[in-house]
Amino acid sequence: MRYTSTRDKNVDVSSSWAIAQGISADGGLFVPVEIPKVSLDDIAAMANMSYVERAKRVLSLYLTDFTAEELAYCVEGAYGDNKFSSQDIAPIHELKAGEEILELWRGPTCAFKDMALQMLPRLMTVSVKKAVGTRETVILVATSGDTGKAALEGFKDVEGTKILVFYPDEGVSPMQKLQMTTQEGSNVAVCAIKGNFDDAQTGVKTIFTDKEIGKKLAEHGMAFSSANSINWGRLVPQIVYYFSAYCDMLKQGKISAGDRINFVVPTGNFGNILAVYYAREMGLPVDRLICASNKNRVLTDFFDTGVYDINRSFYTTSSPSMDILISSNLERLLFIASGYSDEFVREMMGDLKQKGKYTMPENVMSAINSVFCAGCCDDEGTKDTIKKTFEDYGYLCDTHTAVGINVYEKYAEKTGDKTPTVIDSTANPFKFSRSVLDAVEPGASEGLDEFSMVGELARVTKTSCPPQLADLRDKPVRFRDVCDRDSMEKAVFRLLGI
Ligand SMILES: *Cc1c(COP(=O)(O)O)cnc(C)c1O
Repeated sequence: MRYTSTRDKNVDVSSSWAIAQGISADGGLFVPVEIPKVSLDDIAAMANMSYVERAKRVLSLYLTDFTAEELAYCVEGAYGDNKFSSQDIAPIHELKAGEEILELWRGPTCAFKDMALQMLPRLMTVSVKKAVGTRETVILVATSGDTGKAALEGFKDVEGTKILVFYPDEGVSPMQKLQMTTQEGSNVAVCAIKGNFDDAQTGVKTIFTDKEIGKKLAEHGMAFSSANSINWGRLVPQIVYYFSAYCDMLKQGKISAGDRINFVVPTGNFGNILAVYYAREMGLPVDRLICASNKNRVLTDFFDTGVYDINRSFYTTSSPSMDILISSNLERLLFIASGYSDEFVREMMGDLKQKGKYTMPENVMSAINSVFCAGCCDDEGTKDTIKKTFEDYGYLCDTHTAVGINVYEKYAEKTGDKTPTVIDSTANPFKFSRSVLDAVEPGASEGLDEFSMVGELARVTKTSCPPQLADLRDKPVRFRDVCDRDSMEKAVFRLLGI
C-alpha cells in the first residue's frame, strides 16, 4: 500500500515513511491511495479471533511494508501483558436491545487515546528504523489533558524515543495533572506552562519548525516527531475496534453476517469517527455514522449546512476533550469524498486559513450526508443523560460518552431508525468525577477535593474507581517544573540533556 498527501497527489511514500514523518511537507495529511476491501467471509472468520488477531488482520492490509514479526511486535506489545482491564480489550456492553456501548477506555490511562497510543510508539520505532535508519525520536506534545498522559504511558521506556509533554498550569483537571506529574519511566519529562492550552500548543509548534533547534537535535542524532491524531499511525489502530465490535455482535448472536449497524462517535478532532468511515469503506456493514458534539457544534453545523465556519465563540464544557473548533482529520474525509482531489482540499484549506470558513459544493456534500449525520448537546443535556442512563440501565458513563448517548436518543426518536447501534464510550467516568458525581447527586461535589469526590462517586453509585486513578493519591510527584512560554526552548534542551 502506498500513501499520498491530501494536498499533493505527487507524494508517494510507504506506510513506514508516512508514520515516521507524521505530516506531509506540503502541510497535508498522509492517506492510503486506495482503501483495501474485506469480504463478509473475512469478517465472519475474524469473529472467532482474539482482539490481537483481529488487529493483525486489519493492520496487515494497510502496513504492507511491515513483516508479520514486526506487526506482531506492535500489536502484542500494545494489547498484551494484561495492560487492558478487559480480555476483550474493547468490550461491548448492552444498554438495551439494539443499543450497545463500546468501551474504549479499558487501557492504562482510562481514556480511549490508549487504543492508539499504546501502539504508536512501536509503529514509530519500527517505521523510523525502516524509513530513516538509526536516530532517536523526540516526541513533543502540547496537551489539554488526555493525550499527554496516554502518550507518556505509551512511550515510557520505549527504546529509541524520548517524550516531553507541556501542559497549561491552570488548564487541566487535578486528576489529569497528577496523572502526568507522577509519570514513571526513564525517557519521559513533563513541564507546566504559565498560560493556556493555546500558549502550550503555539510554543510546541514554534519549536517543532525552528530550523536551528532541528539542527542542534540532528547533531545529537535526534529528530522531533508528533504523537497527535494527524499521524496515520494513530488512526490505523482505531479502525480495528469497529471490526471487533461488529464481530462481537455476530459472535453473541445479536446480528447475522451482513446486517448493517450504526455507530455513534463523540467527536473532537474527527479521528475516531474517520476510523469507522474507513472501516465502512473497507466493507464493514455499517449504515449511518452519527457524529456527536458538545456546545462547540462546528461539526453539527457543517453536516447540516455544508459550511465549516470557525468564526464563532469557543466554549469550555464538561466534555473538554471535545472542546475543539478545528477538527484536523476532516481534511482526510474531504479528500476521499471529493474523489481524491488534492486541488479541492487545497482550495478548502486555503479558505479555512484565510477566511476561517469554507463552503462545500453540493455534490460532495450530498455524498457525505448519505453516510454521516450529526447532533449536539449542551452541559445540561450531558448531565441529564448521565443521570438517566444510570437510573434506567444501571450504567455509569462519563461526560463524553453521555454526549454520544444523548445525540443518539434524539436521532432515534426523530428518525424512528431501529438499526442496531453501537455508541463509543471514550473515557472512564472516574476521570471526570466532579461532573459525573454532580449529575447523579446534584451538589454532592461541593467542598470536596478530587479524591474525596472519587470516594463519594464510588459510594453513591456502588461502582469502583480503576486502581490506576485511585493509586495516584499516594504516588510521588516527579515533575514540578513550570516555565514561561518564552523559555520552553531552554526547557527542551535541559530535559534532553543537550
Ligand atoms: C480525544 C477524545 C475524544 C475525541 O476524539 P477525536 O478522535 O479527537 O474525535 C472524545 N472523548 C475523549 C474522552 C477523548 O479523550
